[in-house]
This record gives sequence, structure tokens and C-alpha cells, in this order.
Amino acid sequence: MPGIEKLAINQVTTRDQWTLREAVEGYARHGVRGISVWRDKLADCGVADAASLLGDHGMTVTGLCRGGMFGGSDGSGWQAAIDDNLKAVEEAAAIGARALVLVAGGLAPGSKDLVGARARVADGIAAILPAARAAGVALAIEPMHPMTCADRGCVTTLGLANDLCDALGEGVGVAVDVYHVWWDPALDEEIARAGRRILAFHVNDWLADTRDRVFDRGMMGDGVVDIPRIRRLVERAGYDGMNEVEIFSAENWWKRDPDEVVAVCVERHETAV
Ligand code: ZN
Repeated sequence: MPGIEKLAINQVTTRDQWTLREAVEGYARHGVRGISVWRDKLADCGVADAASLLGDHGMTVTGLCRGGMFGGSDGSGWQAAIDDNLKAVEEAAAIGARALVLVAGGLAPGSKDLVGARARVADGIAAILPAARAAGVALAIEPMHPMTCADRGCVTTLGLANDLCDALGEGVGVAVDVYHVWWDPALDEEIARAGRRILAFHVNDWLADTRDRVFDRGMMGDGVVDIPRIRRLVERAGYDGMNEVEIFSAENWWKRDPDEVVAVCVERHETAV
């Protein structure tokens, strides 16, 4: 079982309870030394203040969430999406994030062109890649569960994400989130194929009776995913970073005392990851 030094918490896990400052201080209070930061919370805090806050608490910043959303950005929205991602690259560099996490985006409004949406994801990443390389910011493509293909994540498998990495080259990798990939019959070989390009490993659980596509993720151990097996696969592939707990949970974990949530994350990281 992994030790607490391997535990990071994505701040979305306490999204409704804590600001960035409260999250950094709260996680540190429980001995957690890694955090993934969200851009809206970062903006509230201020990038410079956030950088000092994270440094003062010795936090490893496992990721900045999130960039991307190129799939649905066509026409007039395209340049805005590129500009926003370039800003995200600067923010990721400023807080020393290990990666800028990219969500692909879905279809453009009214569109049925899935092939075109996926092509835009490749074009969008290619457009920001020179700036990311210059800033030393790795880009982590996060494949998403197929149920969100229309509105969030048209890169629906780790295989598609690996294809993008092959096409785009240096500076692009993947974020493996058990929630999104656990069902995939090709998971073992695609994790091995990703190898050292695995930039982040996200843990949570799939609840067998899940009630929401996005906002009903389970705590590790409460669902059906064999998380230790997937962790061993990513470690065997060469990943030696942190295990990042990322739980969107509007009706459960976001309504609890955040100190309790973090305590449960620490305990389940030991027993169920
Ligand atoms: Zn994730």
C-alpha cells in the first residue's frame, strides 16, 4: 500500500468548501504534500500569492486543471480557446505544476462532426505546444469516459490519447484517471504503451449505481474499480509520481466537513489505492 508521501489531493475534492489557501493549509494539516490546483481558485487567490503559498507549504503541484476544450471550439471560439490555453501554460509555469491537464472538449454546438472535433483537439494542442515547451510545462491529455464524449471529452480512450502523444511528440503525455479508463479492455497494453508519458494518476471510484455522469464520483473503495491493480500497471509503466485523489461529488463529499473528507482520503489512500 502506498505511503502518505505519495498522496496528492486535487482541490476539486473540496471544491465547495475551501478556497485555495484553505485547501493548501488543510491538506498540509493532514500531512498531504501534493495538490492539483484549479484555475478559478487560482484566479481568486492570485497567481503570485498562490505560488508563495504552495512553496511555503512544500506542496508538490501535481497538475493545473485545466486547459484544452478544443473539440467544441470552432469558428469565432477558436482563437479564444488558444489564448486561454496559452494563459493556462503561463499559470502552470508560475506555480510549478508538473503538468497542465487538458480536457479534450466535446462537439461544437449543433455539430455531429466527431471526426472534426477530434482533429481540432490535435490542432489545438499543436498550437500551444511550442509555448508549453518553451515554458517547461508538460501537457497531459486526460482521456475521458465515453459518456462525456458529446459535451466534454471526445478523446474517449487512453489509446486515442496515446495516438495524440505519438503524433505531437515531446512535451505531451497523458493523465490516467481510473474513473475514465477502468472499463477499457485495452487498458493494460495502453498503459504500458503510454510508459513514461504518464504525467498524472487520478484516483477515485466508479459507483455501481452512479446517479450523475460528472458529479457523483465515489471515494476509493466505495465502488467497483480495482484501483491497486491499475496503480501497479502505471507504476510498472514507469510512473513514479503521486496518486491524486480527484472526487467530484455534489451530493456527498462536497457537502461534508472538509477535514473529514481529507481524513477519509488519507485513510482510503492507504487501504484502497
Ligand atoms: Zn482526472
